[in-house]
Amino acid sequence: MKCVICKKILKKYIDVKNLENFKKFKLLKCQNCEHTQTYFSKNTDLQKYYNVKYYGTNKQKFTFFFEKISIATRFFRIKKLLFKKNKKILDIGFGRGIELSILQKKNQTYGVEINDKNFKKLNKIGIKTYLFKNFIKEKFNLSFDYIMMWHNLEHQKHISTVLKKCHKIVKKNGYLIIEVPNSNSFQSKIDRKNWIYWDVPRHNHHFSSQSITKLLKQNGFSIKKIKTFSLEYGGFGMLSSLLNFFFNNKNLLFKQIQSNNVKKFNKFKLSIFLIFSFALSPFALIIELVASYIFKSGSVLNVVAKKI
Ligand SMILES: [Zn+2]
Repeated sequence: MKCVICKKILKKYIDVKNLENFKKFKLLKCQNCEHTQTYFSKNTDLQKYYNVKYYGTNKQKFTFFFEKISIATRFFRIKKLLFKKNKKILDIGFGRGIELSILQKKNQTYGVEINDKNFKKLNKIGIKTYLFKNFIKEKFNLSFDYIMMWHNLEHQKHISTVLKKCHKIVKKNGYLIIEVPNSNSFQSKIDRKNWIYWDVPRHNHHFSSQSITKLLKQNGFSIKKIKTFSLEYGGFGMLSSLLNFFFNNKNLLFKQIQSNNVKKFNKFKLSIFLIFSFALSPFALIIELVASYIFKSGSVLNVVAKKI
């Protein structure tokens, strides 16, 4: 198999298990640009991995206040866009539409998703929605000031096709804001095959800062800024990696706070586990801040790119 970005031969990297059915997937890594790809056998049914366990029930992904924290951090990730007015903003892979619902008050907002289950609710408040399968073909009789892709590009098979389409529909001097997990992050290095954001086989591509830069340049964008700290992913990912040192059952915190998990601890065991996790969290956050701001190897690659 060849690297989709620089066409060099990929080498075997590590085997990573899916967290729900423990099926193993091979990761292959490019020796040149450090881009990593998940290897699929022909009979892998990807659709079955996008189930209710993944999306959550009652439109909620996590239990109790973890859901509230997750929503609150979304304000931070769009903080640069909060004061924009009368802009045309497209969100590819909007999920529950949290960011679009915030931005729609002062702007014209549009969203793309693979299924239509949140469309009605968002259409009611004036957000225009499109199905992903129609997105590549869709003419769009307008061009966008900003296109955002929050943790979506790593799920795509044909990453260049998606970026070419973005290039076509973004205004001249318009911006593309992409965030993906950083496969070269400090947490991925210390946690190796157990790193929570490999998320195989849903994540098809695992980007390094070198590989995403190369890919965006190939598709007509110039890089304005790359940040690696994420309030939502950084501390949590680092905490998960630290907890993996102590427990044999890997990524236990994530499994315990998922709204659909049936294999939950009893209340006593859960309280002890959460207290232990909270005690570790300041250390996790400090390590993540140092990794992100000093070594530029935080949990994500948050890229602002401009159409050239
Ligand atoms: Zn490569």
